[in-house]
Amino acid sequence: MSKPRVRFAPSPTGSPHIGNIRTAVFDYLYARHTGGAFILRIEDTDRARFVEGSLEELMEGLRWVGMQWDEGPEVGGEYGPYWQSERLENYSKYAQQLIDSGRAYYCYCTKERLEEMRKGQEAAKLPPGYDRRCRALTPEEREAAAAENSNPVIRFAMKREGRTEFDDVIRGRVGFENSLQDDFVMIKADGFPTYHFAAVVDDHLMEITHVVRGDEWISSAPKHVQLYEALGWEAPVWVHPPLILDTTGKKLSKRSETQTTFTYYREAGYLPDAMLNFLATMGWSSGEDRKLFSRAELIEKFSFEGIVNHPAIFDLAKLNDLNGEYIRMMSVDELAEMILPWVQKAGYLGENPTAKDLAYIKEVTALIQDRMVTLGEAPDLVSYFYNCGFDYDEKGIKKHLAKDTTPALLKAIISKLSDVSDWNTERIEAAVREAGASVSMEGGHVIHPVRMSITGRTWGPGLFELMKIIGKERCLTRLQKAIDKFGV
Ligand code: GLU
Repeated sequence: MSKPRVRFAPSPTGSPHIGNIRTAVFDYLYARHTGGAFILRIEDTDRARFVEGSLEELMEGLRWVGMQWDEGPEVGGEYGPYWQSERLENYSKYAQQLIDSGRAYYCYCTKERLEEMRKGQEAAKLPPGYDRRCRALTPEEREAAAAENSNPVIRFAMKREGRTEFDDVIRGRVGFENSLQDDFVMIKADGFPTYHFAAVVDDHLMEITHVVRGDEWISSAPKHVQLYEALGWEAPVWVHPPLILDTTGKKLSKRSETQTTFTYYREAGYLPDAMLNFLATMGWSSGEDRKLFSRAELIEKFSFEGIVNHPAIFDLAKLNDLNGEYIRMMSVDELAEMILPWVQKAGYLGENPTAKDLAYIKEVTALIQDRMVTLGEAPDLVSYFYNCGFDYDEKGIKKHLAKDTTPALLKAIISKLSDVSDWNTERIEAAVREAGASVSMEGGHVIHPVRMSITGRTWGPGLFELMKIIGKERCLTRLQKAIDKFGV
């Protein structure tokens, strides 16, 4: 058997939707699992909906998550062009073939007539759909109709009796009544094909073996199945992965709370491998009770049969957990390298960091790695390691700093710390505790005011560790500043 060929066929109509990327993940994993080809085809026949830049955004996103396509824009391939807008002659050719064989026809109905028809159907509570007026015109009728509208569309003549049935890998045998099917438009008045027609022609010409696409397309599949039959072509294997719902059970749409654009997750600092892991396991299961899968494991274990036959849930908490785990699996050096651009963007480091800067960011990274969920949190988590002019947490001020005891405590700490010559965590801790004891204070009563003075926050990594990194001079300055600001 020839190698599988699967395609991801987005329309460049806006920022890529996370659900579509999940479909691409299934395509990609299947292609890699089988040694087949992962093809990127651009369905840009709806010119009114074209959004400048969306293709670039999509390609950047696919590459970010490591899903390089084998054929398509920028890489080419033997089955190109990979933009539907450049393949118009194919559609005309096969549309003509269908007209000649009586399975397609010109429809001259004007917008106004179609609108009237629609209203009539609505009033009579009839299902919507074209009433097939132009399906069997006599030559005279055709002439008259053409005089009324010289810009006809081409419609496919769907079968009117029986059922259209097909097998879907996930759903099993699926069937639809032909009497409920519409004679859909194949070629629009502007000469461009509709999705249904273009996708079938291209899937055939590109020798696509498996069509993987969102469940919302399953009700359109009878159109495609009948097109394959009418053109005498062998249909591909159909795979319709289930819908994705948010945690409230609503379809993941622009209106749901969940962010639906793929780019959002890249910009928020999720890791590509975590994202791949998350998307792959949203609606697919290896049958094992585990959540962490490396790319290699996903490729090895993936099968269409493992895709579940019920809606998948997009659970942000799960993604956050997973991302945190991936962050903790990284070495400090790797993570520091990933954090660096975020820290630069926040303005804490310049474009050309020195060796000292890099050594420093590694020390900081080691301290914050435990708590991080996304890379996007880095600027906030590292801020007080760079910036002395931070704000102080309001509640923290009240609870830990604006007290009669604070000045004496902090003064004692400054004095003890000033004497520390070997600035390491043990010495710092000993000095802080001794200073506390000298004013009869201990534990949290000592730690919290110091933490607030040095970081402005009530929580964070180990206090003595972070003081070591921040350095003696800056710690002393910050403690003095807290006395000046909050001492009463
Ligand atoms: N262009 C369609 C979309 O973006 C593709 C559907 C399919 O994969 O066939 O939804």
